[in-house]
Amino acid sequence: MNIKKKVLVTGGAGFLGSHLCDKLIQMGCEVLCVDNYFTGRRDNISHLLDNPNFELLRHDVTFPLYVEVDEIYNLACPASPVHYQFDPVQTTKVNVLGAINMLGLAKRTKAKIFQASTSEVYGNPSVHPQPESYHGDVNPIGIRSCYDEGKRCAETLFFDYYRQHKLDIKVVRIFNTYGPRMHPNDGRVVSNFIMQALAGEDITIYGDGSQTRSFCFVDDLINAFILMMDSASDVTGPINVGNPTEFTMKELAECVIRLTGSSSKITYQPLPQDDPLQRKPDIVLAKEKLGWTPTIELEQGLTKTIEYFKQYIR
Ligand code: NAD
Ligand code: UDP
Ligand code: UDP
Repeated sequence: MNIKKKVLVTGGAGFLGSHLCDKLIQMGCEVLCVDNYFTGRRDNISHLLDNPNFELLRHDVTFPLYVEVDEIYNLACPASPVHYQFDPVQTTKVNVLGAINMLGLAKRTKAKIFQASTSEVYGNPSVHPQPESYHGDVNPIGIRSCYDEGKRCAETLFFDYYRQHKLDIKVVRIFNTYGPRMHPNDGRVVSNFIMQALAGEDITIYGDGSQTRSFCFVDDLINAFILMMDSASDVTGPINVGNPTEFTMKELAECVIRLTGSSSKITYQPLPQDDPLQRKPDIVLAKEKLGWTPTIELEQGLTKTIEYFKQYIR
């Protein structure tokens, strides 16, 4: 009799999803990876294709999906501003229709369901660092709204399915995460700065570089995902997951230049609309409920990420 846990990962060919698939396979689960390759790549999971416990399905989660699973990790959604603003209507659809379909699937199969929410639900925060109890300051009609409001609506759906249909839900709010398999051209700050530094091109800081972010290395984050899925049933979240060590974009640029030994110069470009000025997670709840804290420091994680990106430089 097959008693392996069957786990569905939507967005499994993406940056975070592919690392999660690796971890679940290592843990002995049967993994069904669902992705439409909008921003994900087969390359990210090609090393798993021969594994008998791994199955890959090309599918768009805005359409219904009927499969039998024990756990669902719902990650499908483009994450970088450049990608999610490419087709904003589709971004809202992935977040809302994708969530409804996966929640419907969880309801029918009684699967536990995890949602990859985001620090973007806090918008441009007036509270710093951001605890889960802060309700955010989000522009409903701006160019980031398809993502921010889409993720907020997905959280609403998760909690309504929890209250109305007694689903076992696990919602985490992910703060900026980086590492190998990030898309080299996705326009996010870590990939941009590393690619620019390796190619000897100018490093493009948007604004004056004093805006802050806190960056979590992917391995730390995936550990939090697993702890969250395995947490007691009264732990629904939302729980912030991220690294609370905060850096300005200028500090990040300088660190990348130093670690790559690059001769790149820093240039300044306008700050995009609605770009949050600071962001840092309050992770007290993650420590208390999951016993989780990130352990990988920025320099260590950047070094691994720089190694990965070298293959894209000719
Ligand atoms: P990613 O773009 O690398 O991965 C997203 C994956 O979803 C891709 O493989 C893409 O092809 C797939 N996808 C998109 N639309 C789909 C659809 N309609 N049907 C099926 N698959 C679809 O991004 P990521 O960084 O791995 O992010 C994964 C999740 O984590 C996203 O939900 C994102 O919002 C969330 N998140 C990420 C970060 C971060 O810093 N990386 C921060 C906050 C939240
Ligand atoms: N759904 C799905 N797979 C399933 C069950 C449901 O994709 O195994 C989708 C289906 O398209 C449905 C949605 O999930 O519209 C929400 O399901 P729910 O049972 O909550 O609502 P209803 O079927 O009543 O619309
Ligand atoms: N950013 C930058 N240069 C770049 C790309 C991004 O200065 O080449 C800035 C961006 O304006 C933002 C921060 O870096 O203030 C983080 O941007 P990213 O797109 O990585 O993530 P998010 O804004 O979603 O946190």
